[in-house]
Amino acid sequence: MKSLPVAEPDLRGNESKYVMECLESTWISSLGKYISAFEEKFSSYCSVKYGVSTYNGTVALQLALAALNIKEGDEVIVPALTFIATANAVTYLGAKPVFVDADRKTWNMDVNKIKEKITDKTKAIIPVHLYGHPCDMDPILELAQQYNLYVIEDVAEAHGAEYKGKKLGSLGTIGCFSFYGNKIITTGEGGMCVTNDEKLAERMRFLKDHGMTEQYYHPEIGFNFRMTNLQAAIGVAQLERINELIATKIKHAKLYKELLSSVKGITFQPEESYAKSVFWLHSILIEDDFRCNRDALMKELKDAGIDSRPFFIPMNELPPYRQEGFPVASELSRKGMNLPSSTLLTDEDIKRVCSVIAGNPKTL
Ligand SMILES: *Cc1c(COP(=O)(O)O)cnc(C)c1O
Repeated sequence: MKSLPVAEPDLRGNESKYVMECLESTWISSLGKYISAFEEKFSSYCSVKYGVSTYNGTVALQLALAALNIKEGDEVIVPALTFIATANAVTYLGAKPVFVDADRKTWNMDVNKIKEKITDKTKAIIPVHLYGHPCDMDPILELAQQYNLYVIEDVAEAHGAEYKGKKLGSLGTIGCFSFYGNKIITTGEGGMCVTNDEKLAERMRFLKDHGMTEQYYHPEIGFNFRMTNLQAAIGVAQLERINELIATKIKHAKLYKELLSSVKGITFQPEESYAKSVFWLHSILIEDDFRCNRDALMKELKDAGIDSRPFFIPMNELPPYRQEGFPVASELSRKGMNLPSSTLLTDEDIKRVCSVIAGNPKTL
């Protein structure tokens, strides 16, 4: 039987055609028509005016923070339960990531626990829309306004998802995306910052290209965070199919829920009334009354040729950031797992996964 991966990019559109065009024209580095096309098309897809491409999502976060002049001595509020890149981007600038515990229901940052973390040093909040589900943005935006903080959305896992009808990435000061191979759309490696603020967009363009104003004049120390035309060519092709890819994710989420609805001890990330989720990774919690524990289930799946993945280990449990006081993030991390989530899966593949989870292959 074929093995099922957790993620696999879906490159069945114009990807190879556009990449070949780059090769044939020799425009393979960080100049070329696909870069500006991808920036314009993707930012417009997000209902945001400006897009600044980068070579991955981690440096997109770093670029956004640098453009907002976040530096040593500053504090930035981030969720405890996220991928480490969110926290590391803050650390790279010499600032301190200050963690907020997860919300048991939504798995995102608990908006009721942000205020207590704000100090005189706090400069920004980075909400992460975990596994494709939007954070509750209104309370975050209200706090940011009240305390004069920037909001940098980490949208690495939620391209196209919506909060109260608005595309994610358009709600904060800057939205940061990743186009890594397993994300909603991919460029291999890649990232983008989107913003409605023209000055900030210019500042990010300046910083990501060695802080250069005119040829070889560098008034400041910048970075080389540039995306290549090859990456952007893949991005343009992926963007042509983003609605179809998301529709498949949503269809698969429904099928997983339906097939596992009668299995006791499994919890899905609920879709809140304010949210349109894009179900980046189909994820479940294995509760204590399930027939086995999370790790045992992952092994059963592996034996059946099905790949799965545990949740992120929360920042509070990792050596660089270890600290006490994040019980919900730790609990979710212990119980949570991601199921096969590629848009290349068939309904039969998903039925196969669910039958192993249910522990009774014949009934599904
Ligand atoms: C993937 C991811 C990133 C980083 O993106 P890369 O392109 O891999 O550098 C940042 N934050 C979150 C939440 C992610 O899932």
